[in-house]
Amino acid sequence: MDRRTLLKTGGMGILGLGLGSCFRGSASSLSPYKLLPSLNVAWNRVIHTTVGLRPHRPSGFVLRAERFGDKTLIHNYGHGGSGMSLSWGTGSMAADLALESEVREVAVIGCGVAGLTTARQLQRRGFSVTIYALSVPPDTTSNMSLAAWTPTSGLVDQERRTTAWDLQLRQAARIAYRQLQLLTGPEYGISWIDSYALSDSAPRERSTREDQDPLLPSDLRLPTVALGPGEHPFPTRYASQRVTLRIEPSIYLDALVRDVMRFGGRIVIRKFDTPRDLMTLDESIIINCTGLGSHDLFGDTELVPLKGQLTLLVPQPEVNYATFGGLQGTGGFIHMQPRSDGIALGGTSEEGNWSLEPDENARQRIVEAHRALFSAMRGSPRLESAISLS
Ligand SMILES: Cc1cc2nc3c(=O)[nH]c(=O)nc-3n(C[C@H](O)[C@H](O)[C@H](O)COP(=O)(O)OP(=O)(O)OC[C@H]3O[C@@H](n4cnc5c(N)ncnc54)[C@H](O)[C@@H]3O)c2cc1C
Repeated sequence: MDRRTLLKTGGMGILGLGLGSCFRGSASSLSPYKLLPSLNVAWNRVIHTTVGLRPHRPSGFVLRAERFGDKTLIHNYGHGGSGMSLSWGTGSMAADLALESEVREVAVIGCGVAGLTTARQLQRRGFSVTIYALSVPPDTTSNMSLAAWTPTSGLVDQERRTTAWDLQLRQAARIAYRQLQLLTGPEYGISWIDSYALSDSAPRERSTREDQDPLLPSDLRLPTVALGPGEHPFPTRYASQRVTLRIEPSIYLDALVRDVMRFGGRIVIRKFDTPRDLMTLDESIIINCTGLGSHDLFGDTELVPLKGQLTLLVPQPEVNYATFGGLQGTGGFIHMQPRSDGIALGGTSEEGNWSLEPDENARQRIVEAHRALFSAMRGSPRLESAISLS
């Protein structure tokens, strides 16, 4: 995978779990990792399949203010596969741009994660906010997200980055990472979770300085631990473990809606077909958080969907770890993240596909590859024998 593909597709490297980027711990200190319950993957446990279109722009998200007739228009859209991670940060920066105006009434267009977190950042600065949107949770792309801490996934093409944009990304990621940490707990559906990147390829020995995403400073992730054969319960030769943030979209987005309302915000269901429609709004500051909607609304033809689908299995509360990758020969990249509304299985990123219909072949591939992975895992039986011995 070259750098460009890596940044766009959401592979393990993007998730910062690449096996070439680990530091090693000793086998004895790692024995607790063996005590992982296995996932029960079976077709009679499949609840449903969701589809979402990640709003990808090869040159990265748009975060800037411009004059719009007698109004100020601030763009905050195009977060690719990173919107759930970055939105508190870009929302904070968009709200700071709004502070440059005298008025304190703002219209936010869009009620996905970008619109909701921008609205909250505005409210924290004393603005009165109305959100206008065609759809609200649970019917936004944000609700279809896996929602791991993936601040650079499907976000930008390497050769299209600029120094100014990189600075925006770093600032946004730093603000967002801290904000998400402050919201951990059941109320917002955010928690820390162990993630395992699985592979049969040996990890290359590297310094921990290289244990990082090329786009972000090292302190925006916790370090990885490389586990060799016998040091983990997975049927791959190697696993690389990292503790990371998990967001449960349905809990999180509903909590954000509640907070926006609690702080005096209004939500109006409305579709805008052209920029001229926006001129009819009373507010003189408008913040555009329409995600992929900016393709048609503002004619941003650089925006392209990265279609992703998730198949949900019946929840298994005892499974409280995520996996990225699977067994060789099972048809491509896969990932699993447990949450209270189901175990999310995924592994697709189809550029330019605007269809919201689930792809049956992809569904079969992803469920079967997880079935192969977890049926070969040394799971619950090991846990039971460990308990009876103690
Ligand atoms: C399968 C999948 C997995 C993902 N995994 C992750 C992950 O692990 N981590 C991560 O950080 N991100 C992830 N993402 C990406 C993340 O979900 C998106 O970046 C994020 O949801 C974009 O949020 P948004 O608010 O910009 O867009 P949306 O959620 O699409 O919200 C856009 C809002 O604008 C409104 N709107 C649009 N056009 C108009 C219009 N013309 N008039 C009125 N309203 C309009 C919509 O109705 C909606 O309310 C994933 C996405 C998918 C699909």
